[in-house]
Amino acid sequence: MTLKQGTIAVSSGLNIDQQYGCVVPPITLSSTYNFADFNQPRAHDYSRRGNPTRDIAQRALADLEGGAGAVLTSSGMSAIHLVCTVFLKPGDLLVAPHDCYGGSYRLFDSLSKRGAYRVLFVDQGNPQALADALAQQPKLVLIETPSNPLLRVVDIQAICEAAHQVGALTVVDNTFLSPVLQQPLKLGADLVVHSCTKYLNGHSDVVAGTVISKTAEHATELAWWGNNIGVTGAAFDSYLLLRGLRTLGVRVKQQQQNALAIVDYLQKQPLVKKLYHPSLPENQGHDIARRQQSGFGAMVSFEFAGEEAALRHFLKELKLFTLAESLGGVESLISHTATMTHAGMAPEARKAAGISDSLLRISVGLEDSEDLIADLEQAFQAAAKR
Ligand code: PLP
Repeated sequence: MTLKQGTIAVSSGLNIDQQYGCVVPPITLSSTYNFADFNQPRAHDYSRRGNPTRDIAQRALADLEGGAGAVLTSSGMSAIHLVCTVFLKPGDLLVAPHDCYGGSYRLFDSLSKRGAYRVLFVDQGNPQALADALAQQPKLVLIETPSNPLLRVVDIQAICEAAHQVGALTVVDNTFLSPVLQQPLKLGADLVVHSCTKYLNGHSDVVAGTVISKTAEHATELAWWGNNIGVTGAAFDSYLLLRGLRTLGVRVKQQQQNALAIVDYLQKQPLVKKLYHPSLPENQGHDIARRQQSGFGAMVSFEFAGEEAALRHFLKELKLFTLAESLGGVESLISHTATMTHAGMAPEARKAAGISDSLLRISVGLEDSEDLIADLEQAFQAAAKR
């Protein structure tokens, strides 16, 4: 029976407990496991290599993305680092988006400067720039769509096909949409990474990541390296993640509903200079988003039209939007890109990526959208009076 995602999220790992008949799988915190006899390890021997709770979460993640297997890691960054460690050797080329998540940018930039691999940051929405990059025979192409923070959408299927023609593997960072709204493996990607810290967990109380692979061979290789370099996720985090995953579908759908209401409001707000959301016809890649995604997502960015003092006042006046990094939790957050999420990116690189100092990014939560809009309105009014 092929299950729909809502069903996978709710039912994964239920009723597997043999001892007590627990409906919800119990958490296994033990770091080590006894051997059945001399030289006879059981299914698990040490929790860095394998842990029953992590196994359940990994199965759920792989099934949600339609992959052969998943490795749950200690963070989204360690998931991306794991992919690069496995698939890139010194001298190999990585092609990454010029407007990727700031932490990914910093990782690639710093490690390439130490000779771990080479990196080329490219505007993947520009066909000529992409073709020029692929002509340099990369080993790995990272796709991040919608991009962070400008929510530009690129064509996963077209990029994967072009990358495969030059022998490159493709990995999609699917953090911003979750498997509920986008399924990169079905569009031809070889690997998917997530910061599970975001929508997958959804409650801002876990830092974790995952790599999901289309093939069993890659899954085995990634699991081996995950244990080897010690980036696998903790049992407690796996348990919380699994609990958060149960409601993924309803959370994401309601959050994106709220986001659409906020986009509608922000379109009419004079202190908004430019608005970014994949639902907007003028947003880069809107047509691709319509066919590639099953929704437009709950991240919204905009350029504030006032002076810096007014922007600061606006942020201070907000009551329901917390000034904080991260995204995808049930609570609404707002961040100032240049000083927060993308502070690790050099100012010139931010400029090249189109990230201005007045850019704000909202992660829309599950509060009532009328309350969220009323809060934005009072903060805009207060900022306008300054
Ligand atoms: N990828 C994207 C798109 C992100 O937004 C983030 C974090 O914000 C990461 C990866 C890194 O994830 P983590 O913070 O869990 O290490």
